[in-house]
Amino acid sequence: MIYQRIAFIGLGLIAGSMAHATRRADLAGEIVGTARSEQTREIAKEINLCDRITDTAAEAVEGADLVVLCVPVGAMEAVTKEIAPHLAEGCTLTDVGSVKKAVIDAVAPHLPDHVHFIPGHPLAGTEHSGPRSGFAELFDKRFTILVPPEGGNAQAAANLRKYWEGLGAYVDEMDPEHHDLVLAVTSHCPHLIAYTMVGVADDLRRVTDSEVIKYSAAGFRDFTRIAASDPTMWRDVFLNNKEATLEILGRFTEELFALQRAIRTGDGEQLHDYFTRTRAIRRGIIEAGQDTDAPDFGRGAKR
Ligand code: NAP
Repeated sequence: MIYQRIAFIGLGLIAGSMAHATRRADLAGEIVGTARSEQTREIAKEINLCDRITDTAAEAVEGADLVVLCVPVGAMEAVTKEIAPHLAEGCTLTDVGSVKKAVIDAVAPHLPDHVHFIPGHPLAGTEHSGPRSGFAELFDKRFTILVPPEGGNAQAAANLRKYWEGLGAYVDEMDPEHHDLVLAVTSHCPHLIAYTMVGVADDLRRVTDSEVIKYSAAGFRDFTRIAASDPTMWRDVFLNNKEATLEILGRFTEELFALQRAIRTGDGEQLHDYFTRTRAIRRGIIEAGQDTDAPDFGRGAKR
């Protein structure tokens, strides 16, 4: 056991998965949870997601030695203001938000000195949300990035690392700006591109909806899975990682124009060279154990 009492604020995919994985490895004496809506709190009780569900976030954090903010990035500040006066002496506060610099700017100013704030971000997710969507294996062999502040409490950071490793994750540390740039490349912009492609298909009236659905396995289906992700979460990601996503989208647009030109001018060599380079990246991801090379992405074989 690493923590006596863990409090989850927000009970969706990430908190739910953390609660299941915490139990799996017996990492906490007690798991307390709360969510904004009564409906979510009732579902959490029904499925026994936590040992105790409270009506308010202030009650949830009482006596907790780890508090995890699992709400959308845009809601972090309001939640922090509510819980700050109730945080136990010496407790660790962390979050799972997909953006780090904006969350630190929103949360840190409201915290009392006796709280160890160590931001975090598990690089694992699905397109599902809500308290029923969590599962214990979500973080297994996936990376979690921790962003311990300079000069912060080393023991608190070591415990949080141990906790995430107990949940099944590999742990790396980064500074917030670098995290936001890396994630703009690996997650945020790919999501925006998927949203755009699905939007284009939806707008294209010469191709019927039934054709799009029937023939989707040709590649489009993988875009639709990503584009089905939670709208609130993703709105907040782009509003709060503006600089890095705009930087990467600028580069993306330049590359897209270059490929568009190669198609127009019939420059097969350029297209072939480009696709050869990108194929090697896929190989690297599989070799790093971050995806499967089973046919059809291992569909049917695993979740
Ligand atoms: P989720 O399944 O949609 O759950 C979000 C939770 O936050 C719900 O309990 C919801 O309460 C609560 N909430 C929503 N808006 C709120 C507000 N304005 N004030 C207070 N509570 C609010 O979301 P999730 O996927 O677990 O994501 C949670 C966090 O993890 C986000 O910051 C996201 O960036 C990050 N993250 C997500 C993924 C992913 O793939 N999903 C991956 C890594 C990190 P109600 O149910 O009562 O509405």
